[in-house]
Amino acid sequence: MTDVADNWSVVVRLDGTRLCSRVRSLRRHGRPAGARLEVADVEPALPLVGHDPFRAAAADLLERYCCEVVGWTEAGVGSATNLLPIRAIRCPPLIDGISLKILAHEIAHHELHHAGRRTAWIQELEAEQWAIARLDEFDLATASVRQHSESYVVGHMVRSLGKSSDAPALAQRMLNRVPESYTEESRETVRHNGEIYRR
Ligand SMILES: [Zn+2]
Repeated sequence: MTDVADNWSVVVRLDGTRLCSRVRSLRRHGRPAGARLEVADVEPALPLVGHDPFRAAAADLLERYCCEVVGWTEAGVGSATNLLPIRAIRCPPLIDGISLKILAHEIAHHELHHAGRRTAWIQELEAEQWAIARLDEFDLATASVRQHSESYVVGHMVRSLGKSSDAPALAQRMLNRVPESYTEESRETVRHNGEIYRR
């Protein structure tokens, strides 16, 4: 097991197949689990639905970040849940760059330890940036994927502004955080909604 760092675990299913070579989630109360074998009574992995290159890239990311798809959703929808020892993901079939980005976005929520934390727009921005960086590794972060990502993040920002007690100040914090690649139109949407929701 030379590919396993000291504080990671190898997890195998009761049927002997490997669930994951590195599960950080198994560390509890800040104590490393150590490089050891864990046996998990969990269902076999779902076969990945979709086609290459998106399915192959997804398989690579799931293995690398120890996540598993436990269910397929309709287009545009994903979720991340901890079903220890599984870092579970639900996402649409892997048929295009956008579906792959949704899978990577859900992996990001596990990887960036977002569970239970607040400030939705920051989490969503972080998850999208992480996802785009992963798709870049496969040369799959096309213009339409980036466009989808930007609209998704701005949509979350607008929703957060609608709930804010000080929307103009929040809009300014958002504008300080948006990636340089975002369009002036997106910035204007954030600015404008900061004013609309002024109380
Ligand atoms: Zn998300």
